[in-house]
Amino acid sequence: MQSINQLVEHPLLAEKQVTLVIKREDLLHPFISGNKYRKLKYNLLAAKAENQHTILTFGGAYSNHIAATAYAAKEKGFKAIGIIRGEELENSWKTNATLKRAYDDGMRFKFISRSDYREKKSQVFIDTLHNDFGPFYLVPEGGTNDLAIKGCEEIITNDDKEFDVVCSSVGTGGTVSGLIKSSFPHQKVLGFSALKGDFLKDEINKMVNNTRWQLLTDYHFGGYAKTSEELILFINEFKEKTGIPLDPIYTGKMIFGLFDMVKRDTFAVGTKIMAVHTGGLQGIAGMNSVLKKKNLPLLHI
Ligand SMILES: *Cc1c(COP(=O)(O)O)cnc(C)c1O
Repeated sequence: MQSINQLVEHPLLAEKQVTLVIKREDLLHPFISGNKYRKLKYNLLAAKAENQHTILTFGGAYSNHIAATAYAAKEKGFKAIGIIRGEELENSWKTNATLKRAYDDGMRFKFISRSDYREKKSQVFIDTLHNDFGPFYLVPEGGTNDLAIKGCEEIITNDDKEFDVVCSSVGTGGTVSGLIKSSFPHQKVLGFSALKGDFLKDEINKMVNNTRWQLLTDYHFGGYAKTSEELILFINEFKEKTGIPLDPIYTGKMIFGLFDMVKRDTFAVGTKIMAVHTGGLQGIAGMNSVLKKKNLPLLHI
């Protein structure tokens, strides 16, 4: 499956003579949008090959990965179990758009405390899940494993050779690692971290096979899922000017960062940039309910 490349027309890009194309992976599928589709593809094939009937995975209350896994599992005939961070959601999850949709797609939940959630990789914890749920195929939080990276290698195609720079948002680093591995030798890959901290550099280093990449760590807006009025207004204005919707957790921060770099003349005149739109638009409704409580401007849908 291939997504379309959309040329972005914007005064800043014209002024700096930089070409920006957005690879619209968000349009790949109406529900399993963007990179989560790529990351699940080979995992679900492996689960079938192992004759598993249930997919179990982990996520937070607004997780694109939870929403995508619920839908993809349903589509491929699996049962799905979501281990969700936050015991307090036990009584309120029906008012959460992401979890409600995942439930309607057939996913069943176990809500656990934040301290238990930190144990999610330990064998002891996984054994207790097997006691509760029987056999399952485990997909890690955020969906990142070797098969996910293999799926993300398919984002770049031969038609993308013309680009000098490839950009992606970074959560766990699986997507950008796939891009780094399948980028052409003349290309540089920029990852924009949606999380605070430097640790992702080491994580990505473990998953890739070349050094033609850089992790930008100044555009997280305070950390994962943190936003600001400036970011929201940027996303709304970008949509108005270009027609392309961005999400506030990942792609909005990437394009904000990329535009900031363009402003600072980071890219030579004539540079051709391809930014991957990894999706995440399902999370806008949930974010708007958070913004409303904080009296911040809302994202235009
Ligand atoms: C999950 C997600 C990411 C992060 O992908 P990783 O492979 O975990 O780095 C980026 N963008 C969107 C929209 C996502 O949902």
